[in-house]
Amino acid sequence: MRKPKSWVQLAATLILTAALALQPAALAQTKIPKPGFNFFSKDQDIKLGQEAAAQVDREMPIVHNAEMDAWLKKLAEPLISQPEAGGYPYQFKWVNDDNINAFALPGGPVYMNTGLLKHADDEAQVVGVLAHEISHVALRHGTNQASKANLFSLPAMIGGAMLGDNSLLGQLGQLGIGLGLNSVLLKYSRGAESQADQLGALLMHRAGYNPIEMANFFEKLEAISGNQSGVAAWFSSHPNPGNRVKNVQKEILTFDHRNYTRDTGQFARMKALAAKLPPPPKQPQQGAAGQASTAQIPPVSELEAPSSRAKGFESTMYTMSYPENWQVSQGEQGSVTILPKYGVVNTGNGGSAIGYGSIITERSNNSSQRIEEVAAAISQDVVKNNPGIQITAEPQRVTVNGKRTVLYMLNGPSAFQGQREVVVLAVVERSPTDTVSVIFVAPERDYRKFEPTFKNMLNSTRMR
Ligand SMILES: [Zn+2]
Repeated sequence: MRKPKSWVQLAATLILTAALALQPAALAQTKIPKPGFNFFSKDQDIKLGQEAAAQVDREMPIVHNAEMDAWLKKLAEPLISQPEAGGYPYQFKWVNDDNINAFALPGGPVYMNTGLLKHADDEAQVVGVLAHEISHVALRHGTNQASKANLFSLPAMIGGAMLGDNSLLGQLGQLGIGLGLNSVLLKYSRGAESQADQLGALLMHRAGYNPIEMANFFEKLEAISGNQSGVAAWFSSHPNPGNRVKNVQKEILTFDHRNYTRDTGQFARMKALAAKLPPPPKQPQQGAAGQASTAQIPPVSELEAPSSRAKGFESTMYTMSYPENWQVSQGEQGSVTILPKYGVVNTGNGGSAIGYGSIITERSNNSSQRIEEVAAAISQDVVKNNPGIQITAEPQRVTVNGKRTVLYMLNGPSAFQGQREVVVLAVVERSPTDTVSVIFVAPERDYRKFEPTFKNMLNSTRMR
């Protein structure tokens, strides 16, 4: 049997009903974007991001200032603690760079240039950039785009088909996907930009920051982009989807009303700290010749494909076949280059470097050494002689026509301006004292097109 309602309960019910009746018409539904199609698992996003972050940490001037780091963490905390942020192991770092830019790697690492802080008008604008970057991570835009761009090759690859190689970044490097300027992981579509604005606005709102400041800041950057090149990097990776302020305003209308009062009160202090940092180091040198290259990568339509008809090359140590339309030139000390016409790049200042093709070098040692040791030494030479280049995967052991071979994958600045390249180094054992090493080079953008040719050349290599 139900107890009769007490008078107090009844009064409470009546007051509540009256209050409900006084509410304005229901708010339009807030639309929350969801991550799209993806071949990667969430764990793979995290692993990939951590591998990539290790590379970024080595290559970029990371700021080590406890106060600035703590502040960034404090700003991010109320954003990443929301369920829509996906629970990723987020990490935030300042990069000592006056260019206005920020970027996020899959699975959580976020990098903010100090140039951003210098140009922001208030704390909420810095939070806006954070919220936008966090949204790219949560919506998994990097690996979503990589999945869409590599519909056929990726599933087998990330399913573990690549033998002996446990670096995801290294595996992606074999598809020509890396961290370069035009990387599919970092260069977002306009659709992804709108989504990151949309989710970013919601995260800001709930955290107590006015979402309009995010859009305001991006519009401000747009306004100065005409006369300040320092902002170009931002827009090349985060293209303007158009009507940012209007779209965010529209979205704010779907949120419950709130006074945006959160503020750490430390913005001015952080600006002062950023201003006192030592001047950012010069950009790392580009190009295999160790000089900033001014050469432009040829348009894809101008790359003559490697001929399927083969020609043979013979040295005293080995024979190899190569595409008929590539050219052989003999270099010093038993080294040979076999390249397409556009393989040699004039990098400016009288320098030249190889942008596409192969370099084959014979080596003899006085004493016998294990092939793994010889290969490790050769890979270190490659790293030493090419500033900015990194080994991206554990070496793989294979055999080439019965000969023990060690394969290295590397990634570094290309001979073409602003590009990165994939380098494959194969060290083939001829005898306990002799090795033949074959280096293949192609810009990340085109690597997949050249990979079959590289494989054919390597597989055709026979010791004599
Ligand atoms: Zn973006």
